[in-house]
Amino acid sequence: MVDFFAFFALRRKRDMRPEKGDLQLLRGHNRGLIVRLLRTRGPMSRTQLSRMSGLAPSGLTRLVRDLLDEGLIEELGKCRSHGGRRAVLLGFNPSYAYTIGIKVERQRIRAAQVNLEGTILERRDTALPDSLSPEAVFDRIVETVASLRRGRVLGVGVGISGLVDSSRGVDLYSPILAWRHVEVARPLGRRLGLRTWVENDVNTLTLAERLYGAGRPFKHFVCLTVGEGIGAGVVLQGELYHGAFGGAGELGHMTMDPQGPLCRCGARGCLEVYTSDGYLESQARKLRFADIAHLAAAARDGSDDARRTFAEMGRSLGQGAKNAVNLLNPEAIVLGGERMEDADLFMASFEHEVRQNAFPEEARELKILHAELGPDGFLVGAAALATENFLRLPLESP
Ligand SMILES: [Zn+2]
Repeated sequence: MVDFFAFFALRRKRDMRPEKGDLQLLRGHNRGLIVRLLRTRGPMSRTQLSRMSGLAPSGLTRLVRDLLDEGLIEELGKCRSHGGRRAVLLGFNPSYAYTIGIKVERQRIRAAQVNLEGTILERRDTALPDSLSPEAVFDRIVETVASLRRGRVLGVGVGISGLVDSSRGVDLYSPILAWRHVEVARPLGRRLGLRTWVENDVNTLTLAERLYGAGRPFKHFVCLTVGEGIGAGVVLQGELYHGAFGGAGELGHMTMDPQGPLCRCGARGCLEVYTSDGYLESQARKLRFADIAHLAAAARDGSDDARRTFAEMGRSLGQGAKNAVNLLNPEAIVLGGERMEDADLFMASFEHEVRQNAFPEEARELKILHAELGPDGFLVGAAALATENFLRLPLESP
């Protein structure tokens, strides 16, 4: 904000008359400031808004009038203010527009229409086509989006597992679709007639937890997903951290034992080998249980072998998390993913391992939390890719 005003002051100094583009940019910036304040801090009066934004009341009144006309903000009734006068409260209007979030899974596409505060209004599940060619999958996405599309839709976000270059909108490698270097955002956006983003699915979940879930209070946290694979999304300075090529957060393939069993990635002894559903399934078979659900039931009934299996898995997961903690020094670890339904069986050993061996200062302050949004987080976060882009500064007039 400060930089922007410095830039504006510089221009004014140089040629004394601001150019039309500068004024538009400044207006967009101030509009965005108002909307973002109302969205993040909740409803407030014009006086409070003027104080918090630093905008003079006269300028603020004009901007507020325009935003009210457009429907981006709304009047919510009156509150008591000082001097006995009652002031009108202004609020962000989450139903001003919608975005659509999509998750491409192994056999289906999940999609949802989401409002601007992350509430799912409608959802669709569609089976993936037999052919997993980009064109066939795009066809299915186009149909799904068409069936969900109501009102003003700002854009579409797509979450896919694997390596995604979100800045260029390219799926670099997706094991479930067997795609390599597939351009997604541009061709799909053209077909939809909507701006489209693509992102790694664990990152979409992380973004949802950052905006609406357990990650809200933190600028630095790691979101760890446990289930079929082990994934991680990293938030640093309040933003998703992608790394140089979009591959940050591949915690599941951290080497735990170079002599260990072969991982599906081709390396040996990856964290995933000791902590994913594949591990629990193989241990269940060894102990003569039908599947993970039976293993978990036995553990809860007091079977020592079954309990030990989950404790061991939690300890290994804790070792991996501890490495991430020592590397990134996050404020919190947020755990999500399907296997969290058995969290009661592995969280104690997980937490013990993380706190036991991480550096003492970091371990004391570190929060260990459950993700709040469940599987919906994937959809809400994908939709938020479009929402966040719309609400960033400067906010253009529609
Ligand atoms: Zn691996």
